[in-house]
Amino acid sequence: MKELEAAKITEVVALLCKEANFELEDDVQDALEKAFEKEESPAGKEVLRQIVENSRIARSEQIPMCQDTGLAVIFAELGQDLHITGGDFETAINEGVKNGYTDGYLRKSSLADPIRGGNTGDNTPAVIHLTLVPGDRLKLWIVPKGGGSENMSRIAMMKPADGVEGIKKFVVDNIRAASGNPCPPVIVGIGIGGTFERCAQLAKKALLREIGSKHSDPFYADLEEELLGLVNDLGVGPMGFGGITTALAVHIEVAPRHIASFPVSMNLNCHAARHKYIEL
Ligand code: SF4
Repeated sequence: MKELEAAKITEVVALLCKEANFELEDDVQDALEKAFEKEESPAGKEVLRQIVENSRIARSEQIPMCQDTGLAVIFAELGQDLHITGGDFETAINEGVKNGYTDGYLRKSSLADPIRGGNTGDNTPAVIHLTLVPGDRLKLWIVPKGGGSENMSRIAMMKPADGVEGIKKFVVDNIRAASGNPCPPVIVGIGIGGTFERCAQLAKKALLREIGSKHSDPFYADLEEELLGLVNDLGVGPMGFGGITTALAVHIEVAPRHIASFPVSMNLNCHAARHKYIEL
């Protein structure tokens, strides 16, 4: 059985927490630059110019692109033939988050108790979504998630009869109500199906997809494109200043559902759409 030292996991998580906050992935950077070229509203265009410049400065000076450096969300796929040695998986991840946020001088946003507060002091615990898969590799997605866009996320237990039209209304109504609060242009992650909690997780996972990629099922690929058009027709624009760029992408993830349930969720990522991926 292949072995992987827990210390190695800690090391890469620490590095990627910093990198994610300093360097946008190329697909996000390209999408923002293209949106700047195309934006018609003068105020929206100026906002996009500042967003692009801000991300370039963050990359070149290795400083966070936003003051909200996020809660650390980790998606992990662990091969069942991989043996982690010298420590346990969850501790290794949290040590990495702690080291990365401390060494990188990233803001610690994690409260130990949701009502009574008390900062944990090191941005742990991470929110970890772990899946056991065939093979002997560990795949990690490090996703620092800001509060502003997370707060505009929604879930609805719709009636099955609401169908596709219900989904469109849910998305459009909620993006209109969110306005500039999630720091647009946003990436819209949509989860359809599953149970209540599975549906919410699908919407978050949808944010990991590369901008410009399409759903593998043409039916959902078409729906993604239609929803993107509807959202951008709202005119919310960059940071809510008006314009044709409210969203850079709409990504849908689906799962089988109960015949009586029709969960639909929306998780938003702001223009600081940070994520890093590594395979060990
Ligand atoms: S929503 Fe995003 S860009 Fe806005 S403050 Fe939060 S992390 Fe920063």
